[in-house]
Amino acid sequence: MDCIFCKIAAGELPCEKVYEDAHTLVFMDIAGDVDGHMLAIPKRHFENIFDCDGETLDRLMRTVKLIAEHCTKACGYDGVNLLNANGASAGQSVPHFHIHIIPRTAGDNINAWPSFGGATSNIDNIYQKLKL
Ligand code: 5GP
Ligand code: ZN
Repeated sequence: MDCIFCKIAAGELPCEKVYEDAHTLVFMDIAGDVDGHMLAIPKRHFENIFDCDGETLDRLMRTVKLIAEHCTKACGYDGVNLLNANGASAGQSVPHFHIHIIPRTAGDNINAWPSFGGATSNIDNIYQKLKL
């Protein structure tokens, strides 16, 4: 399959590996946009959350938690942002499921939360559509 992250997981493309186990891999994001930017992926190819099975999600989130705790317990950080895009409309650019991990320290001045432009519809109307 012609997928960058599959090739990284298979060792066919290089990466700066932070952590690896049988099912998941964490490596440095090459964007160079923010210090410590990492990506956590399942080694098997899933496009995003929509086709990813529950067991893989469990494993990926356990790895994300392990790395988050590694950041705070061993690397001097206070917190982490977790970011994830599912689908082109959500801004996903690499179609292999991944979670961005951004380690944080108080006063680091990183703006890791999108500045939304303001809601355009009544909250109750949207709520009627969304509620399960
Ligand atoms: P998305 O926009 O899909 O949520 O994020 C994709 C991320 O993958 C981006 O932050 C981008 O910098 C990163 N990325 C794209 N190609 C490569 C690559 O070849 N190696 C690494 N390490 N990261 C990549
Ligand atoms: Zn893939």
